[in-house]
Amino acid sequence: MRHLPCWFCKDIQSDYFMTNDTICAISTAPGIGGVAVIRVSGKESIAICSKLFHPHKKGKDLSCQKAYTLSYGAIIHGKETVDDVVAALFRSPHSFTGEDTVELTCHGSLYIQQRILELLLAHGCRMARPGEFTQRAFMNGKMDLSQAEAVADLIASTSEGQHRLAMNQMKGGFSKELKNLRKQLLEITSLMELELDFADHEELEFADRSELKKLASQIENAMLHLAHSFKAGNAIKNGIPVAIIGKTNAGKSTLLNRLLNEDKAIVSAIHGTTRDVIEDTTLIKGQLFRFIDTAGIRNTTDAIENLGIERTFQKIEQSSIVLWMIDAVDALQQIKEIGNDIFHRCKNKQLIIVLNKVDLIETQLDLKHLIPTNMPIIYISAKEGKNVEELQRKLTEATQITPTQQGDIIVSNVRHFEALNHALDSIHRVQDGLENNLSGDFISQDLRECIFHLSNIVGEVTTDQVLGNIFSHFCVGK
Ligand code: GDP
Repeated sequence: MRHLPCWFCKDIQSDYFMTNDTICAISTAPGIGGVAVIRVSGKESIAICSKLFHPHKKGKDLSCQKAYTLSYGAIIHGKETVDDVVAALFRSPHSFTGEDTVELTCHGSLYIQQRILELLLAHGCRMARPGEFTQRAFMNGKMDLSQAEAVADLIASTSEGQHRLAMNQMKGGFSKELKNLRKQLLEITSLMELELDFADHEELEFADRSELKKLASQIENAMLHLAHSFKAGNAIKNGIPVAIIGKTNAGKSTLLNRLLNEDKAIVSAIHGTTRDVIEDTTLIKGQLFRFIDTAGIRNTTDAIENLGIERTFQKIEQSSIVLWMIDAVDALQQIKEIGNDIFHRCKNKQLIIVLNKVDLIETQLDLKHLIPTNMPIIYISAKEGKNVEELQRKLTEATQITPTQQGDIIVSNVRHFEALNHALDSIHRVQDGLENNLSGDFISQDLRECIFHLSNIVGEVTTDQVLGNIFSHFCVGK
């Protein structure tokens, strides 16, 4: 079982570390399905299931079966036959949790699922908490904490990018990178600390300072690379942020509804209807986008509307892509009025000009001379759906996130990102210390802090609170 060496918290005897009892839960989605899987894990799992499971073939008792075998039989209690089931057997340590585990596949009736659970509980099992199977896998050293978190991400994945990120993390690519970094940091630390042991002999210098500086800079670069990947990771996980901006009544809410395929935002001919920000996600060609409908930009004395407009500007800041919607009927006027402001605010963004309501104009407007060269411009009718597909194609082209390759390490978890930033702060202090010839014990302290923050990510150092927080977000049965 995992031993948690914790420098900052000594109390590791708590609920989260108790894995002596046997737990059970329905692992398939709640509701009626063709079949359902009930998972039982812990020391007594095989013994408890053997009392309820009666093999159809004589002599095939569950407790005598080898690991990785399937047995066909029935769950029988007294005179009651609950269902015909298939029992899959895993023996410790070769199971997901690292413990003896039985997975019972029964028919998907809610009554059958509940009845089997009741019988398991009556025979000594306890209901598993959310994520407890994965938590046991972590405690039994089957995976580290970042891999356990990836299990939840994998289950929640809805796009190709999210799936690939979660798979990479679950396979341990990120963990390996962190292990390398910690190994290098430990090398420097041990050299520094060796020097401290011989502090009386000032002539001895075990750690060549220029070598240490080089190593610290390599570590800093590797961590910076990981921290920078968070922007892409976050966009893949939570959707690429796309702000839809423009003057009131340009058709922003109509476009949002069209892109989301639902009536999310109120569409109205009354100016200033959208006063707050409305956002939602949708998949386009396997890529998750987060569209943000903003309050229309116009000069107004209405205080609440002005607050909304202020938020529009903030949302531009937070977006990767900006769709500037212009009403085709009044396009020249709108570009003259707010063009310069928008071009300025979006200078570091992917700006796409969307000329809307083309159904109301006779001839296509040529606006190229009014906008910066090479800025994409697209003519649509949000109301009629004309050319919206073309806009979707432009959006997928405009995403700067290239599909992650198998093996790419991209940070997508806020907890990991924060820990990396703390580790970066520590390594910067190490670098300052080396630069200013500070004494080894100061530098060593910062090195240890840096290792601590990296260890936090994989759960080598952790607290109940962190574990509770992570696993409570899992579903029951995983
Ligand atoms: P917003 O203030 O920018 O969010 O604009 P809305 O989406 O609320 O639309 C304002 C008005 O323009 C509504 O009456 C819409 O039906 C209308 N509208 C939106 N898009 C189009 C379009 O492509 N063609 C036409 N003819 N009207 C549209």
